[in-house]
Amino acid sequence: VEQRSNFLSRTRQLFSRLGNTVQDTDLITDELWDDLTEALLTADVGPSTSLGLIERLQQRAANEQMRTGAQVQMALREELSDLLGETSPLRLSKKSPLTVFLVIGVNGSGKTTSIAKMANLLKLQGHKVMLAAADTFRAAAIDQIQEWGRRIDVPVISQNQGSDPAAVVYDALQAATSRGYDILIVDTAGRLQTKFNLMEELKKINRIIQKFVPDGPHELLMVIDAPTGQNALLQARQFAADIGLTGVIITKMDGTAKGGFAFAVTDDLGVPIKFIGIGEKVGDLIPFEPQQFVAALFA
Ligand code: GDP
Repeated sequence: VEQRSNFLSRTRQLFSRLGNTVQDTDLITDELWDDLTEALLTADVGPSTSLGLIERLQQRAANEQMRTGAQVQMALREELSDLLGETSPLRLSKKSPLTVFLVIGVNGSGKTTSIAKMANLLKLQGHKVMLAAADTFRAAAIDQIQEWGRRIDVPVISQNQGSDPAAVVYDALQAATSRGYDILIVDTAGRLQTKFNLMEELKKINRIIQKFVPDGPHELLMVIDAPTGQNALLQARQFAADIGLTGVIITKMDGTAKGGFAFAVTDDLGVPIKFIGIGEKVGDLIPFEPQQFVAALFA
């Protein structure tokens, strides 16, 4: 992240302005709290997370008898780090030779690109990775993941448009186990609007996975793009708990001033951020490191 933290430049501008505003204050005034709140909201930290942060900071300022803006800034960094939690690596199966990840996300969020980037990253780490094109609603989605598969030299199991996603997953599980692959990434629903259908689809897919891999799926990841931010969150929150989401990939962190969205994600959905997307190229996906992220914001 060190060399590549430029992707955060626009968000960082906001945070460092925020940092300076706070840092340069000798007195902790109402105006300081107002400025802080405004800066958090502008960085898309979101209303409820921002308010929660401010309340905790005010409490701490009183309890710890803080006198200067610099003290508040230190506390802010601590609180932001706490919100993001620890680094959360992908969970690999300990019991089965095959690990299965399901990925969901609305069309356009960067789901397919992120799956390809993730597959490539895992491949570079020495894994044998296979992809399943189980987002069968749009023909373009199937073509796109096949194209990525060719580019990164990873096999993609697919069927025709409109086929049953669970059938594609079945095929892929069979292929992966018989050919000795150790990671299968399933490109799942791109339409999250119909919550019920999605739930049914995921349940069916889960049952099939568990026939092959009893402790799977090992991750259920949702791809959300930072520019959509709070709007995406509204939708994600509705079913994150229902479907047993285990993590989030935030895409398009490059060029957005809304990097503060990361804090709203962990606070609201209660699941860790696994990766962030910082560009369109295959290498532009980095494992999310909470401490480095916060440090980069204030750099
Ligand atoms: P899907 O419909 O959710 O599968 O989305 P795609 O993977 O097709 O991505 C939609 C668009 O977003 C494409 O033009 C991608 O190149 C672009 N994209 C995906 N991730 C990122 C990212 O992290 N940064 C930027 N700048 N663009 C991205």
